[in-house]
Amino acid sequence: MSGSENAVPQADHLTVFYASQTGNAESISRNIYEQAQERGFKAFHHVLNDHAKVDWDKEDCLVFVVSTTGDGDPPDNSTKFWRHLRKLKGVGLTKAKYTILGLGDTNYDNFCQTAKRLDTRLQELGATSFYPRGLADDATGLEEIVDPWIKNLWPALAHQVISTPTVHDLPQPHLTPEEEKIVKSLILKQEQDRKQSIAAATLASPKLLSTFTSTAAGQDPIENTIKDLSNLTLNPSDNPPITSAVGYKIDIDFSTMADHSNLTALPRVPNANLQIANLETVVASREPGTLPTFIQSPTPLLVATINKVQCLTPSDALKRTIAVEFGFEDDVDYAPGDAFGIWAPNNEALVRGVLSALNVSDVAATKAVRLHGQGIPSHLQTVESATLLDIFRYAVDLTSPPKKANIRLYAEHASDLADKQKLMFMASKQGADQLNAFRAQSPTFLDILHTFPSVNIPLARVIETLPPMQPRYYSITSSPMSKNGHRRWSCAFNVVTYDLSGGIHRRGVCTPWLDELAGQVPFGKVVTTGLTTQRLPVFLKLNETRFNLPSDTTKPVIMIGPGTGVAPFMGFLEHRAEQRLIKKRLVNIGSGPRQHLDDHFGDMWLFFGCRHREKDWLFREQMESYKRDGVLTELLLAVSREENVPNSAKYVQDQIRDQGKSLWNLIHKKGAMIYVCGDAKGMAKAVHDELVNILINHGGYEKMAAIMELNKWAQEKRYLRDLWA
Ligand code: NAP
Repeated sequence: MSGSENAVPQADHLTVFYASQTGNAESISRNIYEQAQERGFKAFHHVLNDHAKVDWDKEDCLVFVVSTTGDGDPPDNSTKFWRHLRKLKGVGLTKAKYTILGLGDTNYDNFCQTAKRLDTRLQELGATSFYPRGLADDATGLEEIVDPWIKNLWPALAHQVISTPTVHDLPQPHLTPEEEKIVKSLILKQEQDRKQSIAAATLASPKLLSTFTSTAAGQDPIENTIKDLSNLTLNPSDNPPITSAVGYKIDIDFSTMADHSNLTALPRVPNANLQIANLETVVASREPGTLPTFIQSPTPLLVATINKVQCLTPSDALKRTIAVEFGFEDDVDYAPGDAFGIWAPNNEALVRGVLSALNVSDVAATKAVRLHGQGIPSHLQTVESATLLDIFRYAVDLTSPPKKANIRLYAEHASDLADKQKLMFMASKQGADQLNAFRAQSPTFLDILHTFPSVNIPLARVIETLPPMQPRYYSITSSPMSKNGHRRWSCAFNVVTYDLSGGIHRRGVCTPWLDELAGQVPFGKVVTTGLTTQRLPVFLKLNETRFNLPSDTTKPVIMIGPGTGVAPFMGFLEHRAEQRLIKKRLVNIGSGPRQHLDDHFGDMWLFFGCRHREKDWLFREQMESYKRDGVLTELLLAVSREENVPNSAKYVQDQIRDQGKSLWNLIHKKGAMIYVCGDAKGMAKAVHDELVNILINHGGYEKMAAIMELNKWAQEKRYLRDLWA
C-alpha cells in the first residue's frame, strides 16, 4: 500500500472490479485477477456492487471490466454501485488510479456505454487513468481487443511500480527493457509461488480429505467420489429412467490446419480453483415452485401458477407465439411496462446426457455436494448443498457457444492427438474461421464432448468454466388495474426453435420448457382449465429505465413495438382502458361523453409490425377493439411479407416516416412521450434514424442538433427504449 504522501506509491495492490450480465466480464476479470496474482501483485476481485469492500482512494490501482446491456444500461450487479457513484460529490477520488476494459457490441446503439460513463464519472471525481481504456466488440470478437489489452496492461502496471504516470505519458503498449525486467522477475517469483501453491493445493481441506483418502496420485478426486457413490443403491422410484441426449457431431473443415505450424494468441487456461466436497447426505426433494437454494434471485421469488394459455399464431406462421397468464395467491405490486424473470432449467435430456458423458452415475448425480475454493465464480459460491443434477440444471449454461479459453481448456484434456490439434487450432488466432464456423452451429457442451470424444475433463473444471445460467425475461402484457389484476399477469413469447445445416435442430432453453409446461396448446384454442399443476418461481425485474406510462394521463403516448416487442404496450393499453372506465364512472359525463372523456387522456398511437396479417398479427382483436373504443387513437400496421399490397409499409420505421408530420405535431406541440420496445440490433436503430429525420424534415433541425435533441429527450425520460438482444 502507498504510505505517506511523499513516498513513491507502489502498485503492488490491485483490485479488479467487474460488472457482468452474462458472466463474460466476470470471467475476463477473473482471468486478469489470476494473472495479477501470478505476477506478484496483491490482487483482489470484487463485483462492483461490493465497491464498499475497497477503499478506492487507498488502493494503488483499480481495474474495471464492465459490460453493457439493453439500451446501453449497466449490468444488474452494478446498479447499487451506480447509485453510490451518482451521490458522490466534488473531486473525492484524486488518489485513485484506474483503467477500464469495456465489453459491448457495435451492432447495438450505445456501444460500451457503461465503460464510457464510468470513465467520464471517474475523471469528474478526480481519479487518474493509468492505462488507456479498451473497448471490446462482440460483433468482431471480444478477444481481438481483450487479449492485447490484457497483455499490455502488465507493462503499464509495472510502470506504476516505478513511477506514477498519467495516461498521457504512458509508454507505447510494448515492454521497454526496464519494464520487461520488472515483469519477468515478477513472473518468475510468481511462477515459483504458484508451483508451491499447486503442491499445497493437492492437500485437500479436512472435509475433503475424509472423502478422498483413497485418491491415487494423479487421479481427480471427484471422479473417485463418483465411483464411490455409484456403489450405492437407490430406490428405483427415486430415480426414474430419463432419456439422455447424445449430442451432435459438428463437422468443421480443418483442411487448412496443416498450413499453420506456429499457433499464436492462444488464450490462457483458466486456473483450477473449484473443489467439490461430497456431503454424504441426500438433498431433500424440493417443494413444487421452489428453486435450488443456491439461486440468487435479484428480487424476491414469487410462486406462480398457469391460469390461461393461448397460441397466437397458426402452424404455418414463421414463429409460434404463446400467450400465458400467471396467477398468484397474494397481491403483486407491478406496473404496466415492467418485466419479470424466470429461472428455467436446462433441458433434462441434455443434463442427463452431459452427466453421463462425464461418467457421473444417476446415483452420484442425486447426492449432495458442496462447491468451494478461493476465487470461484460468484454463481457457484452459494452452492452449499446441492445435487450435481441441480447444478447442471440450474447453475451452468450448457447451450451458449463456447468461449476460446474453454476450447483451449478442452484441448488440454484431449487424449487423442487429432482432437487436441483441432481444439488448439480453434483456440488460436490462425483457427478463427474454424472457431466461428463451430460457434455458428451453436454447439451445446454435449456436442463438444461428442465431437471431440477423447476430451476427458474433470467434473470440477467443467462446472467452474461453463458460463452461469441466466434467468430469462419477459414483459408483462397486462395491467394491475384490470379485474383481479394484482393477482395475475400475462406475457407473450416466441417459442424458439431453429434448424441448422447438417440436420441439427436447436431449441431455446426457457420458451420450449414453458410451452411444454403449458401443454403445447394448438392455435385458436384458449385453455383455462385442466392446466398443469406446476408452480413456477418467477421474480419481478427492477425497472431502472422507467419504461412505464406517464403519471400525467393527458400526455400523448407514441408506442413502437413490432412482433413481441408490442408486449408492454398491451399492458399500457389495458391500463388506459381501465383508467378510462373508472373516469367514465366517476365523472357525470352528460351529453358529449367521448369528447369529455378524451379531455382527460392524451392520444395513444401504436406502431406494430408483423409478417402476415393473418398469421402473426399478435393481439389483433384486442388492438382493434381498443381502436373502436377510442383507447387507441391510431393503430398503424406494417406488414413485411405480404405480396401485392399497394402502398403498404414494410416496417414500423416506414410507417413512422409516412406519419412524420403528425408525429412531429404530437411531439412538439403536445409533448408526446415516445416508447420503443423490441430488437436492439436492427429495428431500434432504424426507428432512431427515422426520428432524427422527423426532427430534420419537420422541425427544421440540422442533423447533429437533431441527434443531440433526441439524446436530451432520452435523458429526460421522454424518449424511452426497452431493447432486447
Ligand atoms: P419478429 O417476429 O422477428 O418480427 C416482427 C416484425 O418485425 C416482422 O415483420 C419482421 O420482418 C420485422 N423486422 C425485422 N427486422 C426489422 C427491422 N430491422 N426493423 C423493423 N422491423 C423489422 O419479432 P419478434 O421475434 O417477436 O421480436 C421482437 C423483439 O422484441 C425481440 O428482440 C424480443 O426479444 C423482444 N421483446 C420480447 C418481449 C417478450 O416479452 N416476449 C418483450 C419485449 C421485447 P421480417 O422478418 O419479415 O424482415
